[in-house]
Amino acid sequence: MELRVLGCWSPYPRAGGSCSGYLISEGETHILVDFGSGCFSRLQRYFDFRRLQAVVISHLHPDHFLDVFTLRYALRASLWNGSRQEKLPLYLPGEPAVEIERLVQYREEFDLHIMEECSGLAINIGDLRLQLCKTEHPVTTFAVRIEGASTLVYSADTAWDPDIIKLAEGADLFLCEASVLEKDKEYVSKAGHLTAHQAGTIAREAGVKRLVITHFFPEYDLKTLRLEAEEGFNGPVELAQEGLRYIF
Ligand SMILES: [Zn+2]
Repeated sequence: MELRVLGCWSPYPRAGGSCSGYLISEGETHILVDFGSGCFSRLQRYFDFRRLQAVVISHLHPDHFLDVFTLRYALRASLWNGSRQEKLPLYLPGEPAVEIERLVQYREEFDLHIMEECSGLAINIGDLRLQLCKTEHPVTTFAVRIEGASTLVYSADTAWDPDIIKLAEGADLFLCEASVLEKDKEYVSKAGHLTAHQAGTIAREAGVKRLVITHFFPEYDLKTLRLEAEEGFNGPVELAQEGLRYIF
């Protein structure tokens, strides 16, 4: 399996960067998981959007889905000029209503699937099987375990939640949000986020093989964030880096 990081910042990017977005590929199956502001431009450096099989949005906060609106225009153009024949399946949570009302207007470009309605919260897309798990966040949010020849687990946005440890069990690569430094940790439970140390602890308890942290606050020093994650993990931790490809 391959993970290409399209964006790693939250809630706004550094100069030239993008908010959360990931291209995940296994054989001929290519999906996007989250697609925040700036991701569409970077996607095109590496991959032709016409070949996507699905987009899965963990939750409808702008830093995780805003470029769906940009993608919609590109899909519209490709359906019009015949360079793509089919609508693109778009999986997303059923709230907030105000965002859903906007997105349902784009049924000509997207085939919409509300994730609460997916049977057993499992989705099959090409060679990939996705298992969803609701997280602790102010809006409905799903973490996802993606299984193909290997296993990727993505935490999405979440406060500390034992269910994420279960979901991540034995993953080959765990992509986990690490929004907060220890010095600011009183912020995490009310905002529904993890400290880097907590991200490391979840990864250690889940016995994952490789931990990549993401969802970085642009004002932080990322070296400190990584050190705190490594203390929790008790091993080396990688920082998600835009444009980089992780093969596992
Ligand atoms: Zn969020």
